Amino acid sequence: MGTIVQFKVYGKNAEKATQAAVKEVSNIEKKMSVNIKTSEISKLNAKAGVSGEKLSTDTYSVIEKSVQYSKLTGGALDATIEPIVSLWGIGTDKERLPSKKEIDEKLKFVNYNDIILDKKNSTVKLKRMNQAIDLGAIAKGYTADEVKKVLLNNKISSAIINLGGNVYALGNKPDGTSWNIGVQNPLSTRGEYLGSISATDKSIVTSGNYERFFIKDGIRYHHIFDPKSGYPANKGLISTTIVSDKSIDGDALSTSTYILGLDKGLKLVESMKGVEAIFITNDKKIYVTPGLKDNFDLTNKEFTYEKGR
Ligand code: ADP
Ligand code: MG
Repeated sequence: MGTIVQFKVYGKNAEKATQAAVKEVSNIEKKMSVNIKTSEISKLNAKAGVSGEKLSTDTYSVIEKSVQYSKLTGGALDATIEPIVSLWGIGTDKERLPSKKEIDEKLKFVNYNDIILDKKNSTVKLKRMNQAIDLGAIAKGYTADEVKKVLLNNKISSAIINLGGNVYALGNKPDGTSWNIGVQNPLSTRGEYLGSISATDKSIVTSGNYERFFIKDGIRYHHIFDPKSGYPANKGLISTTIVSDKSIDGDALSTSTYILGLDKGLKLVESMKGVEAIFITNDKKIYVTPGLKDNFDLTNKEFTYEKGR
């Protein structure tokens, strides 16, 4: 998945459960990765504009969910972003700043309405040649949910699933108290926290511009793209954290609220039941939704709460 995967699993069955969980991660990756030539997604992309690809229920459901979120977010999340992702190549040895002309050329292929879903046959087709799907914004969330199921099936009731910052806190700590999940400080490198969230049976997912990026002429170009422009999203946020029951929702929402920006992002999250958020702006202000306030502990004084929030 192009990231570090870490499990902390407690209980008698932990060893066996962890092995099953690792296997689940690689099974999903084999189906959904754009970087694996034999994956279902690669096959589907190769047939764009020609024919559909029959998919496993796993892959089908993730694409379907992605389309639902595209509709909900007015196209902020769009799995057909792949031509733009490849053009920029951020995080690969081909990363570069493309010309506006190149970007506009690729942007023509980005449109989630061209994902043709056939649920009865579990088949997906991309309408036009050169279109391609990338599930990078949502697949880790789905994977966390599936890993959780594997652990539960193996009688585990206390664990942390961490797929490169996409975290699920299963049950409580072995001592019976809630887990404390660190919230990444978006201004420093991975593993430095600005605070923590106390959580039991919750998903905590953060998207930010610190994850994968390059800097050219003082400008940071990162890996979360605005499908309207084809450029990295730049609506004043540097990180978005979503707390939810299901990690697929958290993953979809952290990426899309990042793209939508503070006002629209907050509005969206506040309209959804059981979803809480922490948004951090360029000027180091923190917005926390009311339902999360009591469970969030801000420790880094560099960041300040926005008044009224
Ligand atoms: P991370 O991979 O850092 O956890 P995200 O969940 O925010 O971050 O997903 C970012 C990834 O999603 C990118 O690397 C890219 O593959 C894909 N992506 C980028 N922009 C979009 C978008 N607007 N809609 C859907 N997927 C996107
Ligand atoms: Mg995401």
